[in-house]
Amino acid sequence: TYIIAEPCVDVMDKACVEECPVDCIYEGGRALYIQPDECVDCGACEPVCPVEAIFYEDDVPDEWEPYVSANADFFDEL
Ligand code: SF4
Repeated sequence: TYIIAEPCVDVMDKACVEECPVDCIYEGGRALYIQPDECVDCGACEPVCPVEAIFYEDDVPDEWEPYVSANADFFDEL
């Protein structure tokens, strides 16, 4: 799955939402989240993010690694 990290917080540009072919990017209170079970790893969202907040899960910078689990937890809590 792809992950949305810290640069999205309080930005939520949503360019990625327009690109996602399976509509698996959801809006939270302060950031957008990718539903890991729905994401088909197409990568379409990543280059359109104006703040470069989107990474493939294996490529998330160390400092934002907590966003991998935080992203999944967001959906567990729904
Ligand atoms: Fe949607 Fe593709 Fe991005 Fe996954 S990688 S969130 S399917 S646009």
